[in-house]
Order: sequence, then C-alpha cells, then structure tokens
Amino acid sequence: MVQLNDECMMELALAEARIALERGVFPVGAVLSAGSQILGRSYKTMISNHLNHAEMNLFHQVFEGDYAFSRADNLTLYTTLEPCIMCFGTMLHLPITRLVFAMEDTYGGCAHVRLENAPPRHLSRSIEIVGGVGRLDACKLFADFLDATADEFWLTGGAPHFQATVKAEIAARRI
Ligand SMILES: [Zn+2]
Repeated sequence: MVQLNDECMMELALAEARIALERGVFPVGAVLSAGSQILGRSYKTMISNHLNHAEMNLFHQVFEGDYAFSRADNLTLYTTLEPCIMCFGTMLHLPITRLVFAMEDTYGGCAHVRLENAPPRHLSRSIEIVGGVGRLDACKLFADFLDATADEFWLTGGAPHFQATVKAEIAARRI
C-alpha cells in the first residue's frame, strides 16, 4: 500500500538518479528511510559496472560497520528501478521490511522472485513491496539516458526487455 511520504522519498531518489544521469551513468537512485527520517541516499556509480548499483552504494553508506537497526525500525528502501538479484538478495540480509520502486525492470528485476524454496533464514521474511511510485519520471530519465549514451552495451541492444519497456512507454506518452 502506498504511504503518505512515499512520493516525497521517491522524489529524493529521482534526484539521486539525475546526478547519475549528469555523469553519463545509468540513472538509478536510492534512498533508505525509517519513517520520515532519511538514513541515506545514493546513486549508481561506474567504479564497477556490476557492483556499484545505487542500492549497494546506499547499503554501504548506512550499514557498513556496526549498526543498531532491526526489523522493528520500519526501514523502507526507495529505488527508481526494481532491484536486481544482487540488491534484492542483499536487502533480504538486511533488516529492511519495505521496498518501494518506481519502474519495473522487465529484464532483470527480482522484486517478485518467489521465495518458497528459500532456506529457513529467508522463508520467514516478509517484505512489503510497492511498485510504480514515480514510474513515469523514472522512465523519462531512462529514456534520456538511452538517447544520449554511447555505451556499446546499450547501443547493441543490451537488456532488451527493459529497453523495449522504456521505449514503448515513451512512445505511448507522445501520442
Ligand atoms: Zn542492483
């Protein structure tokens, strides 16, 4: 269920994504909150294409070293794109109980991976997942990125399902 401050928090995540876009990086931004308190915010960086996702950068920022958070703190992860398997898996290891994302990733999004066959540690996890908050704004950033990038991965049709979703959404809006 969408909560009162979800759109405000997603605005902050979108602002992070815009920083990535200005740097020529695939524009994903993320914010972690405990209620109305912002614990951290980050964006995807290119130090390592496969590890420095917005969510991972954020997790390092908030959880590196000792921390006192528990599942009772109602931690919510906001991200402008549905998390990949790495970020979703890391989220399961952390005391995060809610995930709000803007745009679905039809290529590699894992928010709806089924955990019935997961080991006991993860079987007990219950994470509330809300998709679509700020979806069009996130989609426009991805479209801007795809229009401008010279990255061969994207130019040669990388993540085809995702690219098709972005292009179809933008085409539909321009009619
Ligand atoms: Zn990721």
